[in-house]
Amino acid sequence: MTQVFKFGGASIRDAAAIRRLGELLARFPERPLIVVVSAMGKTTNALEALLAAARGSDDADYRERLAALRRDHLATVKALFGERADPVAGRIEALIDELDRRHRAHAHRERPFHYDQTVGIGELLSTTLVAAWLDEIGLASEWRDARDLIVTDDRYQAANVDWTATAERVRDLDSDDGRIRVTQGFTGATAEGASTTLGREGSDYSAAILAHCLGAEGVTIWKDVPGLFNADPRRVDNAVRLERISYDEAIELAWHGAKVIHPKTLAPLRQRAIPLTVRSFQDLAAPGSTIGDDARRDGEVPALMLCEAQTLLEVRPRDLAFMDEARQHDVLGRLVAAGLHAGLIDAGAMRLSLVLDGHPERLEPLVASLATDYGVTRRDDLTLVTVRHGDDALLRALGAGRDCLAERRNADTAQRLFPSAQCPATWHLPD
Ligand code: ADP
Ligand code: ASP
Ligand code: MG
Repeated sequence: MTQVFKFGGASIRDAAAIRRLGELLARFPERPLIVVVSAMGKTTNALEALLAAARGSDDADYRERLAALRRDHLATVKALFGERADPVAGRIEALIDELDRRHRAHAHRERPFHYDQTVGIGELLSTTLVAAWLDEIGLASEWRDARDLIVTDDRYQAANVDWTATAERVRDLDSDDGRIRVTQGFTGATAEGASTTLGREGSDYSAAILAHCLGAEGVTIWKDVPGLFNADPRRVDNAVRLERISYDEAIELAWHGAKVIHPKTLAPLRQRAIPLTVRSFQDLAAPGSTIGDDARRDGEVPALMLCEAQTLLEVRPRDLAFMDEARQHDVLGRLVAAGLHAGLIDAGAMRLSLVLDGHPERLEPLVASLATDYGVTRRDDLTLVTVRHGDDALLRALGAGRDCLAERRNADTAQRLFPSAQCPATWHLPD
């Protein structure tokens, strides 16, 4: 039965990490095996910066950034293949040249289209390297282009999957000839062949799309943490691993900011009852977390999600009228049009409060648009804290000594917004 593995940027961030990835895969001889890979390390951030440079007027900055990408990838090729680097280096050079050509061709088009024709090249570079390395160590692999597999609409930067067309395209992906299929996360293409991306951090979702379409037996996402915890273990000193949780609970955690899993990943898996395992690529003995149909453990321990760099907008009608449904509809319509997500929405008689992620290129036009018709007050540098299954004592303890600027609560979820300056670098979940 088919397994799908997904490896993120940290697991392939340099030559040593790619070697470890090879050792890991050598321990999984079962086939069919499909391996979905993100861009190396922080390459996608570097490609976004390159995009900004390509759209700006500083050609020297653009050239320097392109050269750095070339240099970094070629250095990894050299470190892995030594004397035998030439064929792989040639493919990397060709991809960087293609990236340059695409920037020249698309810099005058709309940003989302330009973005999708260029930023996904990070995954083409990384998979070229990984597939070549697997062959080098005797693990037969086949490199597959995700643009031939995942068919999407043309909503650039947040493309929607055409499930029927994708299922048709991936049919032979799990044919068992003993080779590992290596493909890119994050990317797809329209039926006409224009490259698209699924949204930042979208490689988890790519693995789920392929697994869903193939009816895979399971998906494993290999992370730099040994599972899904009840809070980010890097930010909360007493976070505990969740051994088993349900799809629904994991969707809530991911949606509210547990960034270890992209929120879109779980629904396609739940639909086919495909379990998702989160495991450590650094510690193969660690058992990880399993997300599946079993809900027995949900809510056993409270969970905490932290979203930083949030902005609070309080929107009020100018004419002292109510913030009625028609006005809420108008404000939220503008939010949707701006492509922003509100982590918390709270309405009063004459006010609608929105807590938004700080994407400046989307936020500033929204604020300007709202300010033409409404009174808008704004506060930046905020931290949104979401607690699942917390009691009053826990919420009181988390808020102690901090100004609560907005809040919302229902039966199982409570949210509080605090100034980040009042929040600790490391949190502790009160007992
Ligand atoms: P990848 O690049 O492989 O997709 P990410 O960096 O996106 O990996 O996700 C892993 C990170 O998610 C961890 O390093 C951890 O800091 C963070 N994280 C946030 N919330 C949680 C959580 N609830 N459980 C585990 N890790 C979490
Ligand atoms: N490389 C993409 C990103 O950094 C997708 C991913 O890593 O999941 O957003
Ligand atoms: Mg991720």
